[in-house]
Amino acid sequence: MVERVYNFSPGPAVLPLPVIEEAQRHLVALPGVGMSVLEISHRSKPFEAILAETKQSLTDLLGIPAGYKILFLQGGASLQFSMVPMNLLGGKSADYVLTGSWGQKALEEAHRTGEARVAWDGKADNYNRLPAAGELKLTPTAAYVHVTSNETIQGVQFRDMPATGSVPLVADLSSDFLSRPVPVDRFGLIYACAQKNAGIAGVTVVIVRDDLLARAPDNLPSMLDYRVHAKNDSLANTPPVFAVYILSLICRWLKDDVGGLAKMAERNVEKAKLLYDVLDKSGGFYRGHAKPDCRSQMNVTWRLPSEELEATFVKEAKTHKLHELKGHRSVGGIRASIYNAMPVEGVRALRDFMVDFQSRHAGKK
Ligand SMILES: *Cc1c(COP(=O)(O)O)cnc(C)c1O
Repeated sequence: MVERVYNFSPGPAVLPLPVIEEAQRHLVALPGVGMSVLEISHRSKPFEAILAETKQSLTDLLGIPAGYKILFLQGGASLQFSMVPMNLLGGKSADYVLTGSWGQKALEEAHRTGEARVAWDGKADNYNRLPAAGELKLTPTAAYVHVTSNETIQGVQFRDMPATGSVPLVADLSSDFLSRPVPVDRFGLIYACAQKNAGIAGVTVVIVRDDLLARAPDNLPSMLDYRVHAKNDSLANTPPVFAVYILSLICRWLKDDVGGLAKMAERNVEKAKLLYDVLDKSGGFYRGHAKPDCRSQMNVTWRLPSEELEATFVKEAKTHKLHELKGHRSVGGIRASIYNAMPVEGVRALRDFMVDFQSRHAGKK
């Protein structure tokens, strides 16, 4: 087999090896079907079984209560930036909590559809923290409150979601979906593209509370209307069959190999701690971007004393099989994305490299 490196890409990102191997084994013909999952009708029994299994797995893993629909949509999380306001605004205004770049994008798109207000904006601190208790300026009559659970670029992540009273909470979970348990009943709507923790690009999961479906205006184009997808069980048109199939394998891996989301979260906390400990013990050589109590367990972001050293770090890391560590251009520095499928061995290898790199380069600037 060709050797695999440790892939710290922010997305599309590393997949669990057993999932890739199973997909490879069954790519030419699904057992008992004799055709590839790439070749079968989305209305065939085998695909219906895959769809049903995926929904059941998500329900089991996340403990999704009755009264919610699970939808498998296309257009990425970015299309949800538009579909959420199109379906849920109902002529009212929505509140947006901005903790980083993705929240900003969501707000921009909401403005194209209707009215949206900023309930909090972390821009003044370059999005290195979350709102403190009491800082949120929420409107009691808002159609919904939108938050980004984990800001993939800046590396800040909510531990607990803000309380929004009777106003439905809507959350972009794209980069921490299935990485930890989620109290689904606290949300009106959750959406997440799959290519960070839940598989490959092409499918976006939407979990929406039934009562919110009634808000959509009647003149919405059908493909942008949650009701149409809910009524047709995500088969209103051809869904991204291969991406749904990979999601089904990811769910199986989470259930059978990992042992559920609480176990997954334990692993993720342990992995993130390995890296944050290096930042904290580096005497300022590595400067973490996020405030310690707002740190992401998924995307660890930090700077080095100079941009030259950052470039050297990324280049040298590659010679140790540690790839895709360059930070996003808007933040700079280094970003290590350590999603579910990044093994702890990969994070240990990065930690050891960081300690060694500092010992060789500290003081040189
Ligand atoms: C990756 C990402 C997106 C964008 O997803 P697309 O599928 O590319 O549209 C949105 N929000 C967050 C938090 C992300 O990490």
